[in-house]
Amino acid sequence: MDRTGTNLPAVGEYNQTVVLDAIRRRPEGITRSELAALTALSGMTVTKVCRRLLDAGLVDEHGTRMSGPGKPAAVVKLNPDGGFAVGVHIDPAAVTYVLVDLSGKVRDHSRTGTPTAGDPSAVIDEMANAIEALIESSAVDRSRILGIGIASPGPVNVDDGVLLNPPMMPTWHRVALRRSLAEATGLPVLLEKDATAAVVAELWFAGPDSSRDFAFMYYGTGLATGLSVAGEVVRGISSNAGDGGHITVDPDGPVCTCGRRGCVGYITVPRALVARAVLDGVLSAAEAGNLEDTVDVDAAFSRLAALAAAGSPEAIAILTDAARSLARAIVVIVNLLDIDRVIFGGPFWTRVSPVILGALPDAVRSDPALIPPHPIRFAQSAIPVDVAAVGAATLVLDNTFSPRPSALLLAAE
Ligand SMILES: [Zn+2]
Repeated sequence: MDRTGTNLPAVGEYNQTVVLDAIRRRPEGITRSELAALTALSGMTVTKVCRRLLDAGLVDEHGTRMSGPGKPAAVVKLNPDGGFAVGVHIDPAAVTYVLVDLSGKVRDHSRTGTPTAGDPSAVIDEMANAIEALIESSAVDRSRILGIGIASPGPVNVDDGVLLNPPMMPTWHRVALRRSLAEATGLPVLLEKDATAAVVAELWFAGPDSSRDFAFMYYGTGLATGLSVAGEVVRGISSNAGDGGHITVDPDGPVCTCGRRGCVGYITVPRALVARAVLDGVLSAAEAGNLEDTVDVDAAFSRLAALAAAGSPEAIAILTDAARSLARAIVVIVNLLDIDRVIFGGPFWTRVSPVILGALPDAVRSDPALIPPHPIRFAQSAIPVDVAAVGAATLVLDNTFSPRPSALLLAAE
């Protein structure tokens, strides 16, 4: 059975992606003459492109409306069922699978424990089975699935589709995930760092007036940073850009795995905050459980967050200190890139966002080291918890449909 292709026509042509992008960002619908004005393409080109998009099932016509003099004009809208993408987020604690439609809406999702990678072929089988089950339960037309995006903790080798040695996943070394998963599912597969996938999602869902210069602080089992400058995802030459984890924020702090003291990615992560809660007597050792166990840390972190939400001054102090540490790192990142927005998300973020967002903005704005004179805004991602999984799916949509010359290669190996 040949399952390597999709029935969708190639939408690689630049004008086509420009028109589709303009339609996509206006869910209320748009007429051809409005599209021509917006994209600066000729009316004839827009008509030709719309014909192709209609034939491909990527857009629909929804009634007519008056748009300038003459006859009422047909309103074109995106067809959410025109294409689908699978997103997979690998975290040390869990693997999340989502199926999103062309509009970016999550149509189905599932979650499994993270398999150990001692036997990579068993891992691939497990992931391929979970993907097939997701596709089956969602009852979408398989020929409309454009591909699979994978978001994983860095570092990654994006060109080869290999996870290198992600922290806190000791059995995952050089797992050639992309090629094996493409072979097992017959679908094209893309791989990206989790924080980078989050940036792709933010840009994909951004309104026309959103800031295009921002840092995404991804608060998962570890702390990761994704960057967008002038609306382009910053990937770097090996797609590992944005690792701010070893920015020193406390010269007298505990020794990080890198040998330096007080690295932000060492002292602000959930495991470190739980460890401090035990030292401060906020959580008992029994409540904290095994700090090497991601599931225990997850549960203990929820307890700490709940205590802070209930007004425990000691719990609030731990999170406020974390906010100040994050603020020092954010000042370095803002100074380097001259960005005006910082977005937060990731699986651990929402539990602590009220306390951290209560303390962090002032700490950044009042930092004497802050250089840019413009205001800096702080926000929570529109998809805070599953942003990496949705972002992974968005990689596929973005790669297929975004009018960006620097798009990744969609490799169906
Ligand atoms: Zn370090």
